[in-house]
Amino acid sequence: MHSSPAKDNRPVPSALPEEQWRAKLSPQEYHVLREAGTEPAFTGEYTDTETTGVYRCRACNAELFRSSEKFHSGCGWPSFFSPLAGDSIIEIEDRSLGMVRTEVRCASCGSHLGHVFAGEDYGTPTDLRYCINSVSLTLEPAE
Ligand SMILES: [Zn+2]
Repeated sequence: MHSSPAKDNRPVPSALPEEQWRAKLSPQEYHVLREAGTEPAFTGEYTDTETTGVYRCRACNAELFRSSEKFHSGCGWPSFFSPLAGDSIIEIEDRSLGMVRTEVRCASCGSHLGHVFAGEDYGTPTDLRYCINSVSLTLEPAE
């Protein structure tokens, strides 16, 4: 079983065995969601999307972010200043690539979403930037 400790030492949930994730997801989705990969900057389908709606986890369909908290960061990935609800995501210290970053995962299925950065002066209400891979999300447009 693949699981990593979260900040509060709860195990990260992993709703399906890895073989089933591999069958359910495209190779790119699997790489990002299940292997903590990153899509190339400025290539994701939602980078500059302004459509009103809810962004769900592409792996398990949990509601994660809303368009009302999305903003243009210019960083090349969809950026949000807050998750839809604090318990919809898990934040984990990530020391890969010689940096200390905070990884963001879906709280429902443990899949990798992106990273969160603080104190960048984007002028948003939280001063946080949830930098999320488009391939980790599915936008459900509002009616
Ligand atoms: Zn999920």
